[in-house]
Amino acid sequence: MTRVCMLHRVLPNQPTAFGRPSCYRLRGTSLTPAEFERLLDSEPVRSLEDVVEAVMEGAPPPPGQVLTFDDGYCEWIHHVVPALEARRVFATFLVCPAFVQERAAQPHPVDLFYWLLDHARRPRFELRLSDGTLTHGSLETDAGKLALITGDLKRRIAHGPPGEQREFLRLLAHALDVEPPADLVRTLYPTEAELRALASVGHRLGAHGTSHRHLTKMEAREAASEISASLSWIARLSDARPAPFAYPDGDFDSATEQQVQAAGATCALTCIPGTVTREAPLFRLPREFITPSHPGVL
Ligand SMILES: [Zn+2]
Repeated sequence: MTRVCMLHRVLPNQPTAFGRPSCYRLRGTSLTPAEFERLLDSEPVRSLEDVVEAVMEGAPPPPGQVLTFDDGYCEWIHHVVPALEARRVFATFLVCPAFVQERAAQPHPVDLFYWLLDHARRPRFELRLSDGTLTHGSLETDAGKLALITGDLKRRIAHGPPGEQREFLRLLAHALDVEPPADLVRTLYPTEAELRALASVGHRLGAHGTSHRHLTKMEAREAASEISASLSWIARLSDARPAPFAYPDGDFDSATEQQVQAAGATCALTCIPGTVTREAPLFRLPREFITPSHPGVL
């Protein structure tokens, strides 16, 4: 059995504001270092290239797990890569410029939203959005915090018009009585030089769009240029090696699938759970979201 694992962050599980777990932890996008070690122990680690090569030849892919990391976070450099190197295994990092220091003028709205909730100095808020909707939330229970990061508000922050996102985050910071630090981008995201160094020691870089917006919500021409610009950026960081692509938030349709193939990616990764077989469609590869409760971690 071959599975492709989708990971994001590896962070110690420290309580945040009002004793609640961090937003990443509640959302399932962060493993602790010990959980990550257990995942590494659970199955042999394979490279995405070997799996793709086998599928292209119609052969069964090598059994084990492929490790992929999405977006771009500092601890990849300082914790994840040393843990991989200690075991002489390699991973694929699917990076988006919206999560890279030199390219991101501001933190991604979701990272900023999470930072505000994790550092809040008031446990409750009530806000009126620009369209008149009254919204409220509470950080007094895990369920209350989880509702904030999985509900409609989170969707508006992740995918709403940029002006509305920034305005809401400004109001929320005020309501929660916190001021995000000026160097948040630097504390969250890696630099291009660090990513280039990952590629130079044998890890692979892959593309993940340039803005992390959903490709199926864009005009066809805009989606095509987002896909090709992200692949060219990755090619510059990794000495023009052919690169895989991961659909931002797993959002794709048959048109985007064809666009990614036409742009020269080696394969495309979805968020559809399942294992990779010899018949797997290369531009719709299944990928398992590895949360702290995934069997490979438990
Ligand atoms: Zn992503």
